[in-house]
Amino acid sequence: MLKAGGWRLNAAAVVLVNACAAMLGAQPAPARLADSPIVRTDARAMLAQMIAARTTGDGNTTPLAEALAARFRAAGVPAADVMVLGAGERNRNLVVRLRGRDRTAAPRLFLAHLDVVEVDSAAWKTNPWVLTERDGMLYGRGVQDDKGPAAALAAAFLDLVRRQVTPERDLILALTAGEEGGSDNGVQWLVANRPELVRAEFVINADGGSGEVVNGRPVAFNVQAAEKVYLDVTLTARGPGGHSSLPDGPSPIDRLAGALDRIGRHRFPIRLTPVSREYLRRRAPLAGGTLGTAMAALARNPRDAAAEAVVSRTPQGNAILRTTCISTLLRGGTAPNAIPSAAEANVNCRIVPGESADSIVAALRRLVAPDGVEVTVRTPATPSPPSVLTPVLQRALEETVREQVGAVPVIPYMEMGATDGIYLRNIGVPVFGVIGLFVTEELIGTAHATDERVPVAAYEGLVDFTRRLVERLAGGR
Ligand SMILES: [Zn+2]
Repeated sequence: MLKAGGWRLNAAAVVLVNACAAMLGAQPAPARLADSPIVRTDARAMLAQMIAARTTGDGNTTPLAEALAARFRAAGVPAADVMVLGAGERNRNLVVRLRGRDRTAAPRLFLAHLDVVEVDSAAWKTNPWVLTERDGMLYGRGVQDDKGPAAALAAAFLDLVRRQVTPERDLILALTAGEEGGSDNGVQWLVANRPELVRAEFVINADGGSGEVVNGRPVAFNVQAAEKVYLDVTLTARGPGGHSSLPDGPSPIDRLAGALDRIGRHRFPIRLTPVSREYLRRRAPLAGGTLGTAMAALARNPRDAAAEAVVSRTPQGNAILRTTCISTLLRGGTAPNAIPSAAEANVNCRIVPGESADSIVAALRRLVAPDGVEVTVRTPATPSPPSVLTPVLQRALEETVREQVGAVPVIPYMEMGATDGIYLRNIGVPVFGVIGLFVTEELIGTAHATDERVPVAAYEGLVDFTRRLVERLAGGR
């Protein structure tokens, strides 16, 4: 899971948010889908089963995928539509397909991952491999990232099966391996080997995006709709080398330093995707003040240089508006008294989706040409076009959020890092990171950390949210 991008709000902004919420609240609330205690019980049981499975590193999602598959078969899903498959023996994925009325329509895919990051057991208050309820909190490795959301999705699918709901089109649940690292990424494997299971109308990825809570109040629901493209380049400066008592002009280290300085100061031109533009527009009232005014102005007119300057002042704002490149590794020299024959640096770029990696590399080459420094690509970038929310999905999310916490804005955003969504966006499938969890920033910070936890009430909210969203997106009966 990656945290929602964007600005954290201050208390002054919250007043404004409440005013906004009150305005939106004037609209009639949609009929609330009935609560279903069985779904909560199912989700809790599967979450306990998932937490007990030590699916870290290269380790073993297969027995867990098999155990979950048995639940779906027992509930009546035909065996052929409950698949445990993947690259290695130890890294299988669970894929469940619920057949819809319209067999010709592209399916809708719901995605979460079953692997988790390692734990430092000694530092935990509880056993990280046992789902533990304590003081109103659920503890365990993966309660947030990503077994909690995975169990909520699985329970929502089981609920459709039990109630014999026939969706309008096929719905696919994929609980995958290898998201957190390891050798076999489940999504990548499915794209390469079983594309018919992932070529969807769109994907709901329950591993990104979430509710945002400030001063105990929900203020926004963030949907991950784009991600920046990762690129590493190597900068190399060369020279004859020699004794440092007889320098002949700048050394490779000097020239490399000059090149890195230019890159560090360089600002790539503004490039707004439809997702970033919508983000600025919807986020502006929450930010408020000078920043909010500038965000709104830039959403209207990306050529507004004054607004661009204001938004670019923070690292977050700057990263939303443009591609960034910054040096991250340095190597050069062998002895204090020798001029090296080469010096090398890694420059890490995060490219705005839609901008070509080649054009960024060409711009870097022009920039460092005066220093005589070579620029080579370390690994080719994987393109990841932004996903634009469709009206159907926008409405489904807004209604579900409103039922859950009231009228807060649903805001698409661009992730600064990359997620599993990249493999799907790369083959043209839109991906939306959606987790119906409303918790504080502090609690979100426990994912990947010690004492990963989530309030019981917030988890039950996630289960309800997920069930309602899946049901809405399933359509007919
Ligand atoms: Zn995750």
